[in-house]
Amino acid sequence: ILHLDQVSKQFARQDVLAVQNVTLTLSQGDILGLLGPSGCGKTTLLRMIAGFEQPQSGIIKIAEQVVASPDRWLPPEQRDVGMVFQDYALFPHLTVEKNVAFGLQRLKKKSKEQVKQRVGEALELVGLSGLGSRYPHELSGGQQQRVALARALAPRPALVLLDEPLSNLDVQVRHRLRQELREILKAAGTSGIFVTHDQEEALSISDWVAVMRSGCLEQCGTPEEIYQHPASRFVAEFVTQAN
Ligand code: ATP
Repeated sequence: ILHLDQVSKQFARQDVLAVQNVTLTLSQGDILGLLGPSGCGKTTLLRMIAGFEQPQSGIIKIAEQVVASPDRWLPPEQRDVGMVFQDYALFPHLTVEKNVAFGLQRLKKKSKEQVKQRVGEALELVGLSGLGSRYPHELSGGQQQRVALARALAPRPALVLLDEPLSNLDVQVRHRLRQELREILKAAGTSGIFVTHDQEEALSISDWVAVMRSGCLEQCGTPEEIYQHPASRFVAEFVTQAN
């Protein structure tokens, strides 16, 4: 569903690459956790997949379509992706239903009925049926993050990208939502990539974990492989350190 081939990014006024020659493949329905210390390039890599940053070099393919290469560039709305941000980014003046429907705007040929049905499905998926007429400030942090997830899932994208989706929540809610997040993505049949610096979170939600260090992909494997057979001392120390 996603293929990255030698993707690199250097920002202006920086002498090191923020992301360096990252090659990675993700299969349909799989969840990948992107793990690594602050500043290692996780967010930059996610933003390149989403289309908010342009790679210096390399090729990005989503659902068999080249979305970024030296001679091709598709903007975010033309990539088959949904995005969930750390701060939820909900519209405060719109109800939950309208917030979720907003994600469907780019699907032009939808009738009102179809939009309503998709919104209902998405809210049911995240366990918020019945709260559609509330406003974001009338919801808890965990519920707001579920609305953001429903908005990303409503257009049924091939891939959902989540940037530190749980980090603004308190510890208890975060732990509960971990398992739920995995179940929701699996029920939707959507592939997902989420960025985290929390190794426990990455190991518990993902089918695959990619550990980054200074812009490079240090190791990519199943949670068991990463935990039991770390490829380097850096990976071993990073995944076993306490948060
Ligand atoms: P964190 O966990 O702290 O969010 P990260 O792993 O997501 O970190 P990135 O945000 O991808 O790291 O940053 C990678 C590197 O690129 C850092 O050195 C950062 O300072 C730099 N960087 C990120 N965005 C920009 C930008 N717009 N302009 C210049 N440098 C940037």
